[in-house]
Amino acid sequence: MSAAPVRRFSGDRLVIATHNKGKLEEIAKLLEPFSVTVISAGELGLPEPAETESTFVGNARIKAHAAASAAGLPALADDSGLEVDALGGAPGVWTADWAETPNGRDFVMAMTRVHEELLSKRAPKPWTARFVCTLVLAWPDGYDAVFQGQIGGQIVWPMRGDQGHGFDPIFQPDGFDQTFGEIDRWEKNKISHRAEAFRKFVGGCFT
Ligand code: IMP
Repeated sequence: MSAAPVRRFSGDRLVIATHNKGKLEEIAKLLEPFSVTVISAGELGLPEPAETESTFVGNARIKAHAAASAAGLPALADDSGLEVDALGGAPGVWTADWAETPNGRDFVMAMTRVHEELLSKRAPKPWTARFVCTLVLAWPDGYDAVFQGQIGGQIVWPMRGDQGHGFDPIFQPDGFDQTFGEIDRWEKNKISHRAEAFRKFVGGCFT
């Protein structure tokens, strides 16, 4: 049985359902070749819904549908995270939570926690890990389509590089001797978990 074709995106405006500046910049850049006006959830004053699911797909669906129905426009959401093998896949869907503090997100604290947990488990190197990304495109009528990507690599310490965002300074992708924090961020856009999910999204919805 063949899968049903994905609905084409035929509008000229797309809401990016994220309040994460780093993700927004990456997605806007990836969308540049297409004649679509990108509107951020922040610009529309959309609230950030609670991510109550225990999977990337579940949380991406929550964000995409909340934005699509509030804006009356198709909305693209990204739920992504870092899975570290020796930590049983943690932080996984809770990647953003590991950075949460009463005063906002602190990624140095979160990266330090990853490193400390690896040391406390006496995990042998290489500390294999992957970034995963799930993109969901939702329409105001409730239809959605899901696209996933991942990139394997290892956790390194100390942190290296100030490009990128989030956990980039401790993630060295396979085949590279630089971390995502050191690789030019538009180069990262060609190889990352988000780039892979994005290629599937473009292939399914645009071309
Ligand atoms: P959420 O998808 O908004 O729930 O959060 C995903 C978490 O994973 C955030 O804390 C991001 O900083 C982190 N993350 C996702 N993608 C990347 C990436 O490309 N580089 C670094 N951190 C990332």
